[in-house]
Order: sequence, then structure tokens, then C-alpha cells
Amino acid sequence: MLYGYAGKYLRIDLTKNKIEIKETSEKLVRKYLGGVGLGVRILWDELDPRTQPLSPENKIIFLTGPLTGTLFPPSGRYEVVSRSPQTGWWAHSSAGGFFGPEMKYAGYDYIIIQGKAKQPVYIHIDNDSIQIKNAKHLWGKNVVETTDTICEELGDTDIKVACIGQAGENLVKYACIMSDYFRAAGRTGMGCILGSKNLKAIAIRGTKGLKIADNKKFVSVVEDAFKRHTPKGKYWEHVNAMRIYGSFALTDWENAIGRLPTKNHWTGYFENAEETIGMKPMRERHYKKHASCFSCGIQCKYASTIKEGKYAGSESEGPEYETVEAFTSNFLSTDTNSLIEANRLCNIYGLDTISAGHTISFAFECFEKGILTEKDTGGRKLIWGNDEMDTVIELLHSIATRKDKFASLLAEGSAFAAKQIGGAAYRCAIHVNNLEASGQDGRPHKSLGLTYAINVRGADHLTSLSSLDELGYKEALQERFGKKNVKILADRWDERLKGYLVSDCENLYAITDSLLVCKYGTMWPPIYYWQDMGRIISYLTGFNEYESIKKLKKLARRICHLRRCFNVRLGWSKKNDCLHPRFTEEPMPTGPAKGQVVHLEPMLKEYYEVRQYDWKTGLPTRAELEDVGLEDIASELKKRGKLVEKYKGKPKDPLNVLK
Ligand code: SF4
Repeated sequence: MLYGYAGKYLRIDLTKNKIEIKETSEKLVRKYLGGVGLGVRILWDELDPRTQPLSPENKIIFLTGPLTGTLFPPSGRYEVVSRSPQTGWWAHSSAGGFFGPEMKYAGYDYIIIQGKAKQPVYIHIDNDSIQIKNAKHLWGKNVVETTDTICEELGDTDIKVACIGQAGENLVKYACIMSDYFRAAGRTGMGCILGSKNLKAIAIRGTKGLKIADNKKFVSVVEDAFKRHTPKGKYWEHVNAMRIYGSFALTDWENAIGRLPTKNHWTGYFENAEETIGMKPMRERHYKKHASCFSCGIQCKYASTIKEGKYAGSESEGPEYETVEAFTSNFLSTDTNSLIEANRLCNIYGLDTISAGHTISFAFECFEKGILTEKDTGGRKLIWGNDEMDTVIELLHSIATRKDKFASLLAEGSAFAAKQIGGAAYRCAIHVNNLEASGQDGRPHKSLGLTYAINVRGADHLTSLSSLDELGYKEALQERFGKKNVKILADRWDERLKGYLVSDCENLYAITDSLLVCKYGTMWPPIYYWQDMGRIISYLTGFNEYESIKKLKKLARRICHLRRCFNVRLGWSKKNDCLHPRFTEEPMPTGPAKGQVVHLEPMLKEYYEVRQYDWKTGLPTRAELEDVGLEDIASELKKRGKLVEKYKGKPKDPLNVLK
């Protein structure tokens, strides 16, 4: 009997119109846990590396983790994994809300989707009844219309729907999967894959329960976890800020350290941000009502509205911090009405706000530098500031529908568009490994530079960002790594020891993304750490071995290595562990971090020392892969000439992050 798991999974072949229900393997989940960990193992085994992301042979997997659907706060998440059409590399993306728990209650730990339907379809799951249904009438509808129509025709207003909008149908490379209307599996183009498979939506209803290995002990950790989200908790100030303002509480805090992307990452400081786009004016002007994901102690979600002006009455959930920067400071704009409207459009079309905002700002910078003219843009003037935010709004409509040639170029993402445009355009496309940089900048926060460089899915912050140096959590640094190193570790501008710090975060988040816990709680604020994760897994699943932190960290290393190996098999090497020259060559021009650049090499060297990657090639080494139980992966990479037998030099780990 599997505790914490539903015990079954689904394989749905859209080409063959075939549905199979199978048993979840205990051996597999014991070794890879769930979510991202389980997903990467399945994709490694099942996906031929020659498979193109938009071919019917590509697979996309929806996964819960053992924690999904339990009462632990927060535990409403699910992961989607595949090979990304946006980057060409490994892809994972997660969303909160209620879809993940419902999938578990329907009886499924994960759903593998393969093939391509002949015509638009949606999948209806009601516990053991699974049907592939015609979705011709849904094609062309946005996310809200699609969700409403499905609920209505199934006669179930409480059914949980994950779907794509027009952006996914039109194969916009950064299209999202949206669930519960407004929760986005946002990054790496997962909605584009559903569009390529003619799969409009999955509607799911479940009424089954879950079995916990040690109920009494598990309830005690749940109670303790909720207490940490009250005024008695160590991080109450930050929990409360998130609860009152949502994640855009970060806008003020990032600007204060010069890390708020402004004018397409030209700088990290936006003059008067606190008074114009900061948490207080945003709440005063736009707050409508509060919301939350399933079983959450923070409850950072809320809906916003526009009270006056041409978009008056416009309403949607969010925006998140990343969306605030992408549609305000990123365009030198203080027009928060346009921000709320842009957020609403991304929600209904199913567009990743980060890539959408930063692909459009890439074009603005090209226009400013004369690389693009009105002839190229279809007559659009791309000029920074409040006055041209209408053009940004118009472009969102046009990109989602691929309305014209220029919009269609931007629908491919900034990396592809820069290649097509040629010349100096690449200097304006702020991405790493084809994923647009998120609302962070490595110049004022050096470890974030390393995070972007080594991230298996490109320039995003969710795979290994350290908030400990970002916001100076000195007490947590001391507890985790000892008194001796706190000064260096807490210094955002000091590159020393950051390679070890980032590898610890990457390991911890690999567990977070496999168990599935929201990053608010493990990353910002840093409420949970290794001991918490070990206890939760043990009491929930009965996999008692993970109460040993050493074994838990080994599991984390296994997941991190396997994700990188997935990319290595596709051709990833040391040259991919890089940063855009904006972060390494262009000193921060203004703000508190003026003059700073990222010196990547020393941090990368430390990171390689922990991971035992070969310094010359970036390839993994046999001993390390074998140590974490990936002998078969090492053998396959060896056959492909992508394995180094021995690590040259002595692996180092001065912070003992692996112990
Ligand atoms: S912290 Fe916010 S995003 Fe995370 S689970 Fe809670 S409500 Fe959802």
C-alpha cells in the first residue's frame, strides 16, 4: 500500500484515442518522490532525445507530489514537465490552486499525455471514468470562456479545469497552462505543447481520499507548520506582508536593493517606485478581494480591478510581482491601469507574463537603438513610458492571435526574434538559454547571476534563487551554515561561497518541487528547511529513510543531476552555463547597486566543485552519478561520449551543504 500517493497513473494517447490506468510503482516514487523528480525520470526513460518539442511524439506529464492534497500548508500545487518548445531544453512549470489536489482525489498521481488528436479535444476525468471529448466548440475561446463552458456543459461548477487560451492554440512559444481560471503553469511554453496536441483542456473531478502513513505525527507537523504562519512564527512580518499585499510586496523590497528590472533590464532601480507602483499604491488603487490556493498558511492571492479610465471595470486575479515589473518599470511606466489590463489579457489568452513583457520590451529596446523601425513593426512606435502602454496592450492581443508578421515574430520569444532580426539585436534580448530573464538581476545579487547561469530551464529564479543573501536573512544563514561564514554569505555583492549556497538552494527546491510545496515558505520567507522536509516525507509516505538528512540530500542531488543529464543528452555543455552580457559586461548604471556586474567564473567554479562537473566540458562525472544511484544514466551518457570518468581535483564543500 502506498501512503501519500493515489496509487495509480493515467497514460492517454491522443493519436490512438487510448486511455490506460496503471499502478504507480513504489520503487519509482521511493527513488524520485513525485513532481519534478518523478517527471524527469519518466521523461528520461520514455523520450527519445531526437524528439522535437512540438512533434506528436513529445510527451507532457501532469504530476502531483505526495504532499499535494494534504492539509500541509501550502500543498495545492502540481507540476507539468516536458521538453520545452520555447527553450529546446528540459521544462518544468508548476501551478497552485485546486487542480492538483483534485487530480489526486480522482485517484491519479500523474497523467502522461502523448500523441496528437486529429481535431480539438478535451479530457474529462471523473474518478474512474475518463473520456476524450470533442472540443471544436471550445477552440478560439479564452481561458475564462473555456472554463465556464466546460463547467456548464458538464453540469458541475466545482469541476477543476486546466486549459489553454488562444495563445496555446496559436503555438505562442511562451503560452501557459491555466488552471482554476487564473493559476498559471507559466514558464517554458507548456500551453504551446497542449496546443500542438490539439488538447484544449483537462477537466477533473475526484472524490477519493488519501491515506497517511502516520496520521498522528503528520497532523502534528501540519499544526506546527500553521503556527509558523501566525504572529508566533519567526517570519511573521514577511508572511503578513505577503498576505496583505500579495507577492508584489517584493516590488518595494527589490527596488530598495537595486534589483527591480527597469527598461528591459537596463538598470535595477526605478525612481519613485514605492510611491507609484509599490505595494501600498497598488493595494489602494486596485485591490478587489482576497483568494488563496488549497490549504495555504500565507494566502497571497487576490483579485485586482481598474476603477477609472478606459479599462475601468477590468478585473482579474493578480498581478504577481513578476507581472508588476514586466509591465511597469520594464517599460518606464507608472500606469498601473495598463498593468492590470496587461495582467488580465495574459490570464485570459494564457500567456506567460514574464516572457510576454520582456519579449515586448526587447522590441522596444531594438526600436530605441534603431535596430527596428516602424517598417519592421507594422507601423507601431515602440517608445518607453506611460504614453505607449496602449501599444503594449495591443501587442498582447496581436501576439496571442499571431495577428500580423511582427506580432508573430514576437510570439516566438526574444531569443528567436533576435536571431531573425540579426545584428546587435541579441544584445537587447535578455535571456539565458532562450528563456527571458525574470524579475531579477544578478548584478545587485550575485548569487542570482549564478542561478540564471546554471538553471536547467533558463533564466528563471524558481529553481535555485537564494533569498538568504537577497534579503539578508542572517539568522537563517547562521543556523544553516554556521557563524563563521555569515558575513560573506549575507553580502549580496560578494561572490565568495555563493556556488555552495546556490547548490544548497537548488537541492532544497528539487525536493520542494517533488513533494510539492509552494516556494513561498521554502524560498521567501525561508520557513522550511531540510529537517522539515525529512519529517514530512517520513510521516506522510512511510519512507522513513528520508528522516536521515544525508539520504534526503542524496535524493535531491539525484533529481538535480538527472535534470542536467536530460539536457546533457540533448547537447548541453559548459558553454550553456553562461549569462547574457548585460549582466556580465554592462555595469549597473543607476541605483543602490550602481557599478556592479556579475563575475560568474568564481561562483561557477564553486558550483562545479560541489556538483563534480568537469570544469573543461561541464559534463557530469561517473563517481558522482553512481553515488546518487544513477548508474544507468552514467552508462548511457558514456555510450554517447557525454560522461567524464573522474573528477579532476578535489571536490569541495566548505559549507557542508551535502552532509
Ligand atoms: S503562498 Fe500564495 S501562491 Fe503559494 S500556495 Fe499560498 S496562496 Fe498559493
